[in-house]
Amino acid sequence: MNHLPDLYETVLERSAGRCQCTGQCGFKHRTEGGECRHGRHDGSRLTVVPVADPAAPPRAACLVPAEQMTALCRECLGPIRAKASKARQQHLAERAADTEPTLF
Ligand SMILES: [Zn+2]
Ligand SMILES: [Zn+2]
Repeated sequence: MNHLPDLYETVLERSAGRCQCTGQCGFKHRTEGGECRHGRHDGSRLTVVPVADPAAPPRAACLVPAEQMTALCRECLGPIRAKASKARQQHLAERAADTEPTLF
């Protein structure tokens, strides 16, 4: 999301340059007190995504205000985004099924 450096910086500033995951990725982060400690300090690349829809395409994501965004490291983003995009596809499939013409 580097096309919006201001938004990116705002979110990262708020997260103190650290991954905001508290186990959503499936890793428990137990050794780190329940929170992922990856971040700028250890050279991890952080990605800023909407909390409500981490799989949103960048064009939709850039409309989300900074306070509804979260910063995730790559390790956490992978499984979180995979889960979210699966839910997204399911949702789209359901909607497509809804609009299917009924025969009777
Ligand atoms: Zn993380
Ligand atoms: Zn995580």
